[in-house]
Amino acid sequence: MKYNIQCRICGSRELIKFLDLGSQPLANSFLRTEKEFETEERYPLQVCFCNQCNLVQLSGVVSKEKLFSDYIYFSSGMPKLSNHFKAYAEDVMGRFLKPNDFVVEIASNDGILIKFFQDRGFRTLGIDPAVNVVKIAKEFGVRTLENFFSEKLAKQIVIDEGKANVILANNVVAHIDDHHDLFKGVKNLLADDGVFVMEAPYLADMFENLTYDTIYHEHLSYLALRPLKKLFEMHDLEAFDIEVNVVQGRSLRIFVGHKGKHKITTNINKYIELELSKRMDNLETYQRLVSKITEQKEQLIKLLTDLKQRGKKIASYGAPAKGNTMLNYCNIGTDILDYALEDLQVKQNMFTPGMHIPIVSALYAHSHEPDYYLMLAWNYEKQILEKEQDFLKKGGKFIIPVKGIKIV
Ligand SMILES: [Zn+2]
Repeated sequence: MKYNIQCRICGSRELIKFLDLGSQPLANSFLRTEKEFETEERYPLQVCFCNQCNLVQLSGVVSKEKLFSDYIYFSSGMPKLSNHFKAYAEDVMGRFLKPNDFVVEIASNDGILIKFFQDRGFRTLGIDPAVNVVKIAKEFGVRTLENFFSEKLAKQIVIDEGKANVILANNVVAHIDDHHDLFKGVKNLLADDGVFVMEAPYLADMFENLTYDTIYHEHLSYLALRPLKKLFEMHDLEAFDIEVNVVQGRSLRIFVGHKGKHKITTNINKYIELELSKRMDNLETYQRLVSKITEQKEQLIKLLTDLKQRGKKIASYGAPAKGNTMLNYCNIGTDILDYALEDLQVKQNMFTPGMHIPIVSALYAHSHEPDYYLMLAWNYEKQILEKEQDFLKKGGKFIIPVKGIKIV
C-alpha cells in the first residue's frame, strides 16, 4: 500500500484525515473457500480532505494490478444499467457525433456501453485492464484492448487509429490514482472539437443519503465539480456542461472539451454555486458527516443485536461491494447474518470479504427465509420490494440502511 502525502489534483500537502473506516479487505475480493480466510489481506480505509482544492480522497492506494486485474464486477450483470446506458449512448450520439466518427471508452468493462456505438456503425475501441472482463467483451463481439489507459497508450492510439471524437469514462476517474496521467492522455487523444464525457458518483449524495458504503479501496477520489474543474484547467481542458442523474445513487455526468472549443452552459455555474452553498469547501461539513455516519453505525448495530436477542433470523439482501464496507465497519458477521442472497451467479457459493457471510442463490434463500433482510443493495430498493411481495405479505421485513435507517 502506498500512502499519498500530496493531494492527487493540486499537490498540496494540506490533506486532513477526517474519516477512518478501519482496516478492511478489498470490497470486491470475495473468497472462494474457508481456507482463504487465514491469508485474507486488509488495508487501512481512511478518507482525507484537501484544504486547497477540496478533493476528498483516500489516504492510501492499493496497487491497480491487485485491484483490477481479475475483476468481479460485470456491468451487464447489473439490472437497470442497460437502459441507462442506451439512453446515455443515444444522447451522446445525437449531440456530438457524425457518421464514421471514432469513439473510445476508458474502462469499457464487458462492453455494455460502447457496444451501442459499435452497433450504430461508429468506429469504436474499448480499453479495459481486467483479463476476465475483456474475455467476455470479446465474446460479445466488442472490440477491446486489454490494458490500463495512460498517456503513453493514448499516444499509441493516435498513431494507430487517429484522434477520438468522443472519449467515454464511466465510473473510472475515481479509480485511477494518477489523475494527471489520465488527463494528459485525454488531452492527447481528443480531437480538436472532441468531447470527453465522464460519469461518476457525486459526493453530494453522501451528505444527503449517508452513502458512506460507497467508500472502498477502488474509489480513490470522491468527486465533485469544483476540484475536477481545477484538474481540467491544469490540462488546458474545460468542463462545458454537467448533468446529475440518479443511477446508483446520484451521478455526475460532465462534458469536457479543449479550452474554448465549446459554449459553456449555465449548468456549470449552477453546480459550483450549489457545492459552495452546501459548504463542500469546508472541513467542518465533513466532520459533521462523520458524526452522522457514527450515529447510523451505532443505531444499526443496536437494532440488529436487539432483533437477534429476540430470536429473529436475519440475512443480507445482496452482496454488493459497497455492502462490505458497511459490514466490516459495523462488524456485522455470521453471528448476526445467516447468509447473503445474491442474484449474480459469479458470487454465489463464495464468502463476503472480511465478515465471511456465505453467499447463496434466491432459490436457497426462499427455502430458508429470514424474518428480516438487511438490504445492502439499497440502490435496487424499488425492484427488490416489488420482487419480494410474497415475503412482505408473509410479514417479512426489510432494514434499509440509507438516509438513517428505515424498516419496511
Ligand atoms: Zn488538492
